Amino acid sequence: MAETLLVNEIYLSLQGESTFAGLPCIFIRLTACNLRCSYCDTAYAFTEGEKKSVAEVRAEVYRLAKRFSHAARAGASATSLASNSPRAAGTSRSNNDSLDIGRHRLPLVELTGGEPLLQKSSLPLMKALCDDGFTVLLETSGALDIAPVDARVRRIMDLKCPSSGESARNRWENLPHLKCIDEIKFVIGTREDYDWAKQMITAHSLAAICPLLVSWVHPLAPEQQDSSLKKVPAGQTAISRQELAEQIIADALPVRFQVQLHKVIWAPEQRGV
Ligand code: SF4
Repeated sequence: MAETLLVNEIYLSLQGESTFAGLPCIFIRLTACNLRCSYCDTAYAFTEGEKKSVAEVRAEVYRLAKRFSHAARAGASATSLASNSPRAAGTSRSNNDSLDIGRHRLPLVELTGGEPLLQKSSLPLMKALCDDGFTVLLETSGALDIAPVDARVRRIMDLKCPSSGESARNRWENLPHLKCIDEIKFVIGTREDYDWAKQMITAHSLAAICPLLVSWVHPLAPEQQDSSLKKVPAGQTAISRQELAEQIIADALPVRFQVQLHKVIWAPEQRGV
């Protein structure tokens, strides 16, 4: 039987949160999540989705990536693109049909959610996309085993801070599996989150493993406030974006502070961007 996935949306936009921020990226948002973080802005992906085969998802990725082949032909050197020869979706191949910037073929492809690893077919999909020559990113909550993910995938793994209400779900056994091409992300909404993140960075020598990302919790729009989300535990003190940035500087924390780029460019509640 064909491998299938429950897919919430597939779209082309700019990567918004990681060391890849700002680069064109095709997002594959998979349905369902086993967590209910207090700040979750994609509750619509908890249940909404359409069944698609891995081949159908790849075909859609190829369709969205197609326009970059024109950019590649127009702008890249003849040497690096001499082997540029479009092929049909679903066939295995190396770099072509795309624009290469530095080491990365554009657009990037990111699996996000929801929690992509809840669906077993996300593993063969990621492998196939890597075989196709894409730079593949995976956004994962850090609550599930990341070990089976193809070694070429760049795993952007959350460590859930206390205000998420899901801190107890961090799967610490994942840490030894992380490599230098992966990234660890802390989403921080309170002073307690900041102190916790700082403590974890030291206790587990996280800066020696891979890049560390710090995002500020962007307040949810009324339509994003799903009743199933966890409450911020009582007694925590909210931290502003500026306070967070200044605290990082004051403490010389070895992290990359980032804003959610898509929320700066488009309305924070807009989907498909
Ligand atoms: S892990 Fe991500 S998708 Fe799941 S509830 Fe938390 S923020 Fe939302």
